[in-house]
Amino acid sequence: MSQTKVAPKNSLPKTMPALKKVRSEPGLTFCNEVELPIVGPRDVLIKVTHAGICGTDRHIFEWDKWSQNRIKIGITTGHEFCGRVVKLGQAVSRVSVGDRVSAEGHIGCGVCEACRTGNAHICDQVQIFGIDCDGCFATFHKVPEENVWPVNEKIRDEVAAVFDPLGNAVHTVMTAGVSGKSVLITGVGIIGLMAVTVAKAAGASQILVTDVDPKRLALARELGADDVLNAREPWVADAKKMTGGRGPQVMLEMSGHPQAIRDGFAALQPGGHVALLGIPPDDITIDLSNAVIFKGATVHGINGRRMFETWYQMERFVLSGRLNLDPIITHVIEMEDFEKGFKMMQTGEAIKVVMRIPN
Ligand SMILES: [Zn+2]
Ligand SMILES: [Zn+2]
Repeated sequence: MSQTKVAPKNSLPKTMPALKKVRSEPGLTFCNEVELPIVGPRDVLIKVTHAGICGTDRHIFEWDKWSQNRIKIGITTGHEFCGRVVKLGQAVSRVSVGDRVSAEGHIGCGVCEACRTGNAHICDQVQIFGIDCDGCFATFHKVPEENVWPVNEKIRDEVAAVFDPLGNAVHTVMTAGVSGKSVLITGVGIIGLMAVTVAKAAGASQILVTDVDPKRLALARELGADDVLNAREPWVADAKKMTGGRGPQVMLEMSGHPQAIRDGFAALQPGGHVALLGIPPDDITIDLSNAVIFKGATVHGINGRRMFETWYQMERFVLSGRLNLDPIITHVIEMEDFEKGFKMMQTGEAIKVVMRIPN
């Protein structure tokens, strides 16, 4: 019989391993002797067991223009995780030591109009851990109590560690409304693939998918896409044909690619709904008159997860057994092998990589 041991308060180590951005150049550094986070009165200290590598972490690893402008040198990266609570701030009341938890990575200010009207995900003072403050690629990670999400015992660690991107997919699908509708998903990276299985579970009557990668298109089919379209070739006419000549009723935009966005709007049925999650690298041009106005399209911008409506929806979807996430979480590796993980993401060998965090 094994029992999970919880470190008593006073037995926490002084230092821990963490993956940090220590220099203004590509790569991350595995640092061994990092001081533990200081736990404020309303914070919870979590011993991280598993952490997902996000596309955002890849940007930080590769040190692209966005990361150079946004990321502070010295930060511990990572924002998708699951772990166990090991220490509580004095004012914490709803979480206990030993709880298995994940957490919402967006920390709202708590007092602005957005935060006070259930829209903390679009608070303009938002801090995202692993981006604006220290993250979870470390043995210990601190999170404000209100961001902690208790993980249901029936949900595996690897799945709990990817709640953050799964929440993006759930937020997008639920905002667009897919039940009984034909749905087009443009771009099947990690979140696009998750959106396929979520849209299926949410009752989409038909799912069309576009991408440039045949391997990902095949995986989308395995997850429940009815038709797949190679985005390297013109596909708008085919998408219309596949939907009885009318075009899909819903577009979930997951690529951020300017042409995919224009083509998706062109394919969309009049009166259709669009949810945009993919982030274009730059300003893009679009024929707004025909794409949106004359078509009477409804367009939603999607950012993060609704706190915490999306989390409740996500938990119910996972517990229903209707989501198929196993083919998406392709690799579980040790944190010290992080370079291999990023490489597998770059080459396309891996879809979602989850790291085991050292004790
Ligand atoms: Zn992420
Ligand atoms: Zn706020």
